[in-house]
Amino acid sequence: MHQLTLAEIARGLADKKFSSEELTKTLLARIAQLDPQLNSFISLTEDLALQQAKAADARRANGESGALLGAPIAHKDLFCTQGIRTSCGSKMLDNFKAPYDATVVAKLAAAGAVTLGKTNMDEFAMGSANESSYYGAVKNPWNLEHVPGGSSGGSAAAVAARLLPAATGTDTGGSIRQPAALTNLTGLKPTYGRVSRWGMIAYASSLDQGGPLARTAEDCAILLQGMAGFDPQDSTSIDEPVPDYSAGLNGSLQGLRIGVPKEYFSAGLDPRIAELIHNSVKELEKLGAVVKEISLPNMQHAIPAYYVIAPAEASSNLSRFDGVRFGYRCEDPKNLIDLYKRSRGEGFGPEVQRRIMVGAYALSAGYYDAYYLKAQKIRRLIKNDFMAAFNEVDIILGPTTPNPAWKLGAKNSDPVAAYLEDVYTITANLAGLPGLSMPAGFVDGLPVGVQLLAPYFQEGRLLNVAHQYQLNTDWHTRTPTGF
Ligand code: GLN
Repeated sequence: MHQLTLAEIARGLADKKFSSEELTKTLLARIAQLDPQLNSFISLTEDLALQQAKAADARRANGESGALLGAPIAHKDLFCTQGIRTSCGSKMLDNFKAPYDATVVAKLAAAGAVTLGKTNMDEFAMGSANESSYYGAVKNPWNLEHVPGGSSGGSAAAVAARLLPAATGTDTGGSIRQPAALTNLTGLKPTYGRVSRWGMIAYASSLDQGGPLARTAEDCAILLQGMAGFDPQDSTSIDEPVPDYSAGLNGSLQGLRIGVPKEYFSAGLDPRIAELIHNSVKELEKLGAVVKEISLPNMQHAIPAYYVIAPAEASSNLSRFDGVRFGYRCEDPKNLIDLYKRSRGEGFGPEVQRRIMVGAYALSAGYYDAYYLKAQKIRRLIKNDFMAAFNEVDIILGPTTPNPAWKLGAKNSDPVAAYLEDVYTITANLAGLPGLSMPAGFVDGLPVGVQLLAPYFQEGRLLNVAHQYQLNTDWHTRTPTGF
């Protein structure tokens, strides 16, 4: 049963082949057996899951239907879940039980999804390896000595290992697409404003966006349908109608204009990945797509701009963790300053502290114009590059990451080496565009992802292209040995 996709589960439940309760019990047992190798969960919510599964079975018995009714999922542990620990991968929030559900959590629960637990993640979503979690590193099911990517690495590892069919993630600079690529999944970062951020613990508010991680584009369509939509609680949520993503999967790719940026194939890209990306282009050409070389001339400035803007916003967002209102508080504070200093010094890990310092510096008087304002100008140039490109093409295609999953610990002593891995993903966040990563082959037994980017609110186009590709390739069906 653990091999079933969300779409297959929906059919099985509708045909009464199994109940949501049976499925939930099977998956919880599988998690108990296999997750110790992976460390992909921070918390399991067995009682809630069984209660939701029984409720979903009862709703089906009453004639209700729906693709998510009774479907098991998990949430990245930065989505607030009422009465359940919401740690954000940090000691700071190890004792924090959210007093309310994030909009995404509430919407999926209302659609009948069953929450099996909360998944591991880089502390405050800062990272690309899932090694900065207070709860320990997550392992890649394709090779337990390698990282699964981050920061949604727990969601990715769990889905890739068939512990469950799909999970939520968030993507500030690539944290859905990059772990999807490194674990052979399909992951989608929606347009900024498409999915509500209410109840998502903020990292960099102008970049953060929640989205689905699953094995197929078909399943991402199902999960995104349950997550997307206007939310008056989120002032940056956009009031655009949500199309029927599943209904749009079968559009023809005849005449689809694909742009391949020449800057993507620079020296930093593993040539074996470059070859797999070219193969995926050929595959799409067979389906009728037309390929064109394009240019994104300001791409080289994206990493420096992102690593000013994201830490600047983080330093502001994370100021609320002061040891007073909620979360970790140090023992025996001598006075208020000591309380702040030690609560934050003991509650935050090294990567989070580094980013807060960089961000506070970039925002400080005298440096604001030189760093923060400059980075915002670069952000606009990057957006303009994309707008020009989308005048000529319907979709932009390239690698998701420059390298396959690296060994655990390999980049620990050099944070900048890890930042460079974000080169292909962060531009979409800076511009607010939707992006998807899908499986495109293997290098040394490790998965490789191809990334597709589309104009604002064209998530449906991304899912359509990915689904057509997946009907004609079988990379996404490969299962890691031992799982
Ligand atoms: N790797 C990037 C960072 O560390 C992206 C993280 C994310 O998307 N949450 O900031």
